[in-house]
Amino acid sequence: MAPTLSLSLCLLRAVRRCALETEVRILQVLGLHPPPTPALVVQAPTCIPWEEGSAANTEDPSFLDSIFWMAAPKSRRTIEVNRTRRRAPEKLEKLKTNIDVCPECGHLKQKHVLCGFCYEKVLKETAKIKEEIRLKEGGHFNVATVETAVLYEGEKPTESDEGKRIIERNRKRPAWFPLN
Ligand SMILES: [Zn+2]
Repeated sequence: MAPTLSLSLCLLRAVRRCALETEVRILQVLGLHPPPTPALVVQAPTCIPWEEGSAANTEDPSFLDSIFWMAAPKSRRTIEVNRTRRRAPEKLEKLKTNIDVCPECGHLKQKHVLCGFCYEKVLKETAKIKEEIRLKEGGHFNVATVETAVLYEGEKPTESDEGKRIIERNRKRPAWFPLN
């Protein structure tokens, strides 16, 4: 009984292998082997036994076998669909309502934010004052050694300026630089 069973099993395997090889041949002739790129390939668990001597097992294992293939789009999105998505209302630039006119120079600026043009002027004037302080002190110090009073054209030192270093600027006092 046992030899008959094993013989029939052997025969069954041989028939199956033959059918598989024929299928692969037919696919090769039709140009479908290897089949079109799969969308998702997952490495099979090692507990599944392989048929000994089958076509897949005789080939050398490829490094591609261990790669987890990501899902790929099946079709191309048309340009109309892409443009509709890109120009969706929630992706458009929001309308700004917090724009105001600078009371000093008249340029447009954001509300509650320093005007960029005026800030530039302040930076330049401060740099000139610092340069004069540096020339008077004979060096550059992070902290001024003496208190400084800045006088513009037509201004005289007051009593409170006594003992202070006087920096004179030969221009009109800017509106944004109040006396106190
Ligand atoms: Zn301004």
